[in-house]
Amino acid sequence: MHRETKLLHYGRGTLPTPANPPVVRASTILHDTLESYEETLRRRNADDSVLSYGRRGTTTAHALMAAINDLEGGDGCWLFPSGVAAIATTLQAYLHQGDHLLLAETAFHATRTVCDHFLKPNGVRVDTIPWDAADLSQWIRPETRAIFVESPGSDTFEVMNLPALCKSAHEHGAIVIADNTYGSGWLYQPLQLGCDVSIIAGTKYLSGHADVMMGAVTARGAATSELRQAVLACGQTLAPDEAYATLRGMRTINLRIERHEENAHVVVNWFKSRKEVERVLHPALAEHPGHASWQRDASGTNGLVTVLFNSRVNIRAFLNSLQLFAIGSSWGGFESLAKKVQPTRILTQAGMGDLNNVVRFHIGLEHVADLIDDLETALNAAVAAK
Ligand SMILES: *Cc1c(COP(=O)(O)O)cnc(C)c1O
Repeated sequence: MHRETKLLHYGRGTLPTPANPPVVRASTILHDTLESYEETLRRRNADDSVLSYGRRGTTTAHALMAAINDLEGGDGCWLFPSGVAAIATTLQAYLHQGDHLLLAETAFHATRTVCDHFLKPNGVRVDTIPWDAADLSQWIRPETRAIFVESPGSDTFEVMNLPALCKSAHEHGAIVIADNTYGSGWLYQPLQLGCDVSIIAGTKYLSGHADVMMGAVTARGAATSELRQAVLACGQTLAPDEAYATLRGMRTINLRIERHEENAHVVVNWFKSRKEVERVLHPALAEHPGHASWQRDASGTNGLVTVLFNSRVNIRAFLNSLQLFAIGSSWGGFESLAKKVQPTRILTQAGMGDLNNVVRFHIGLEHVADLIDDLETALNAAVAAK
């Protein structure tokens, strides 16, 4: 069955049934006999879809876990109240005192914060690897337990060569954990490229409507049981309403991402035609870092576009003049966003221009002609204001 068809059928019970699995709110699940209670506790040891207690998720969360697990191609999926909670628990699951972690320089800032404020003080050594690392032998130590990658990277979208990197990691007995928020299970499938664990901040495209906070972690093979243990021990869970909203959002992730991509390509080409623009960062561009890996490994790009403007542009005036693009954190909802970013690692790439003049856009689902009009008006105002 095609992935598009599966999206619409995830979580459906036997007919007659509601088209969406209902929101089931519960802490306690009531039993009439001690035998029934004991039988449930026994069954849940080997099966996370058993309804036993609210912290283990109700049927609403179980439907979502099965859906994301299928989308990502895993052996088990667990849910979290935010993307950052998913990342922190995953790192905690695999890394203990004395272990060594290799962290891709492209990783989301909050991932680096977890390493600095949590892993390092607890005796885990963390070293950074460049986005184009494929053969890991020069960084691997006997105690290297895991490689954490994010491809494409946050803000500047460098695409990593995951198949080669995973092969090298496995030769050295390390696992590979991927932050798959950019691809969100639709554009990019790290578990199929060799990674052991894939994390999605479902706050973004999975839920897709800027009204949910959630994270999901899917694992495959031997990596699955350690993750499960950590999730259960730490009491990580997702509330039923959030699980419901995420599953409903997922139904249309294909259509939404397609339109985000289409609109983003129009905006990318328009920016490239403007003399105020030094460089446009978007994985679909032939000159983009890692473009060949992206073409080989992914099925498309999303609505994220980062633009380096030259010093003729007053960025504050530009952002304040935009009418359809709001200024805000996050992305992956239906709406257009713009935000000033300061990507330090961009310094390693030659000829990048003025690093104080970098804006990350999320191109929304509005009619693209209206978005271009808005960008044009604001950019003209921002050059005049200089
Ligand atoms: C947004 C984001 C996260 C964090 O997700 P939250 O739900 O905001 O905690 C993690 N990784 C990446 C790549 C993100 O873009």
